[in-house]
Amino acid sequence: MEIGDKKAVTIHYTLRDDEGKVLDSSEGRDPLTYLHGAGNIVPGLEAALAGKKAGDAVRAKLTPAEGYGERDESNVRNLPLRRLPEGKIAPGMRLRIQTDALVTAVRGDYATIDGNHPLAGQTLNFEVDVVEVRDATEEELTHGHVHGPGGHH
Ligand SMILES: [Zn+2]
Repeated sequence: MEIGDKKAVTIHYTLRDDEGKVLDSSEGRDPLTYLHGAGNIVPGLEAALAGKKAGDAVRAKLTPAEGYGERDESNVRNLPLRRLPEGKIAPGMRLRIQTDALVTAVRGDYATIDGNHPLAGQTLNFEVDVVEVRDATEEELTHGHVHGPGGHH
């Protein structure tokens, strides 16, 4: 069965930056199962996997635009500490404000908050092993994600 829209696809993957550093990997964990064509994974990887089958090994080098997008400096803002969650705020902390955000600096009563995705602006080098491809259920298609092992619920 080939990967395409409305398929539930199970993959093992390793993601590296251009220096070869591992950014994310399913190694040592359960494989990831996603619903193809539903935007569950980054667009460039979805495109690279289309038409592949169980047992295929896929290498994909994605530009930032095909991955998590370019960095947008308008997502970097200075916020008064009193508007942030209680407790000590320090650079390197991740906060959930409206979205997930990184504290990059604290000066006086203000914190600098970066709302860009941590992988925005990065070239992504994926190595993927396709483990399984099956038809998604009606319920999965309605929900826009997969159920069962590696999925939701
Ligand atoms: Zn669901």
